[in-house]
Amino acid sequence: MRKKTFVTKEQIDEIKKSFPTPFHLYDEKGIRENARAVKEAFSWNPGYCEYFAVKALPNPFILNIFKEYGFGVDCASFAELAVSKQLGFAPEKIMFSSNDTPAEEYRYAAKIGAVINFDDITHIPFFEKEVGTFPETVSLRYNPGGVYEISNGIMDNPGDSKYGMTKEQLFEAVRILMTKGVKHFGIHSFLVSNTVTNDYYPALSRTLFSLAASLHKDLGCDISFINLSGGVGVAYRLDQTPNDIREIGAGVKKAYDDILVPQGMGNVAIYTEMGRFMTGPYGALITTAIHKKHIYKEYIGVDACAVDLMRPAMYNAYHHITVLGKEEEPLDHMYDVVGSLCENNDKFAIDRSLPKIDIGDTLYIHDTGAHGYSMGYNYNGKLKSPELLLKEDGSVQLIRRRETVRDYFSTFDFCDILDGMDEVC
Ligand SMILES: *Cc1c(COP(=O)(O)O)cnc(C)c1O
Repeated sequence: MRKKTFVTKEQIDEIKKSFPTPFHLYDEKGIRENARAVKEAFSWNPGYCEYFAVKALPNPFILNIFKEYGFGVDCASFAELAVSKQLGFAPEKIMFSSNDTPAEEYRYAAKIGAVINFDDITHIPFFEKEVGTFPETVSLRYNPGGVYEISNGIMDNPGDSKYGMTKEQLFEAVRILMTKGVKHFGIHSFLVSNTVTNDYYPALSRTLFSLAASLHKDLGCDISFINLSGGVGVAYRLDQTPNDIREIGAGVKKAYDDILVPQGMGNVAIYTEMGRFMTGPYGALITTAIHKKHIYKEYIGVDACAVDLMRPAMYNAYHHITVLGKEEEPLDHMYDVVGSLCENNDKFAIDRSLPKIDIGDTLYIHDTGAHGYSMGYNYNGKLKSPELLLKEDGSVQLIRRRETVRDYFSTFDFCDILDGMDEVC
């Protein structure tokens, strides 16, 4: 079994003539096809909106693609809000799902009219003091605590997570906000990350729909939307079956028809804030083997490093690797594929069976389209790679240039440290 690449070796060889490795490459066709499938899967709900989680792939060119489908954006910081506003997303299409929120971020979110999702009950007096009156529509983040189980077992442990408020706090928050003039409420919850099952959203829906129904019944409040947030995952591993968004949409519809419709709540809008599912599989980190090292193990040194893709170093996450042009060769070599950071966790793969790799081979690191570039950092003074978009017509567009030494030192622009450094900047 093989994991498909969205480009061939021939295409990459051509791209490498204009753009040396390492670089991130995104597949516009894949992103668009998936966006259409998501829209279709939830088309039964007239108010449906996907708010793309900006942190997954915060590139304006990508955000503009999603805007074409009527999607919104999910932001958690000043910069994410600012770019969304700049790109012309309508205020109601900007969700502000933050936590531990600084006052100036609330002020800015309120100023641009973003939908505010309160992470905690204490943020209500904080907002009132720091910002002022509440908008007419407010969202609240719920954390059911305990462990979260669905039919195929325990999925995660919300009781250990810092997000959201308890059920009692949520009821109290609605009560308080109603007295302060809030007219419409949204309920939000994010319980499990990277689920590779079609059951997560439907199960979460049942939890949130029941909660919304009791809020409506007990407090008489108007619930205008339920936000299922992120968590729909990607089949990073070869043995995983990718999620089927149509089946997920149908599962949510069933829960909706079972729980909300009988309560007379058939006009509640469903929102999602998927990041990983929207772009993860449609990105690859393209890197070249530049060194081979044999000590107690076999190492392949590539020209990318954890600065470009931190997930393996941070979570020991698996990213499949294809050696372009060697797809048919036997996987009869065992390598650690490493980057150049002075950190022993800078390894894209450990003890990975791969075909024999020669210096100059191009490695395609799969599924880096979400939480890839954006999670990168500048440790060791390593500079971040560019981002390229493979357009539907096969051409390639630079959508973020490579970082330079000048970028790295740009926060020293108040002094003369850069004078005379033109040669390296
Ligand atoms: C990270 C995040 C998302 C997106 O999560 P994915 O796993 O990428 O789908 C959505 N909403 C919130 C509030 C988040 O923090």
